Amino acid sequence: MPISVGRLVEPFSSDMLFKSEAQSYRMAVQCPCGREIKEAGEFKLLFLKKELNEIDILCPNDTCYLRELGFIKFDVENGKAKFREAAFYPPFVTWNKSQLGEEEADKVLKKMLKELVTRYVDWNVLLAEAK
Ligand SMILES: [Zn+2]
Repeated sequence: MPISVGRLVEPFSSDMLFKSEAQSYRMAVQCPCGREIKEAGEFKLLFLKKELNEIDILCPNDTCYLRELGFIKFDVENGKAKFREAAFYPPFVTWNKSQLGEEEADKVLKKMLKELVTRYVDWNVLLAEAK
């Protein structure tokens, strides 16, 4: 079941996020399959592994041979989904470092992860599904 988009959530400060976005540059990352990803909203989010409290970050290309580019993990505490960690997998990271350079790739990928967690995961829907 795909997760709907929307809502800002903890743990990142939305103020900080918007300030950094105002002065951000546009740079696309690329999946090794060739698909360009210009913004975090283009990734697909898939929540299947309920028992592991994990959301898969998928390539927007349906025929991608990698498919899973990263993950977002969370805990459920007192009936609330609480963000734990998010990361992209090594093949995706390595590819982008070879394309953009280590520093740029690091910067863009971290920004995209942060956006996914704060803007594109609907933590309230997630919670309803985790029950
Ligand atoms: Zn791909």
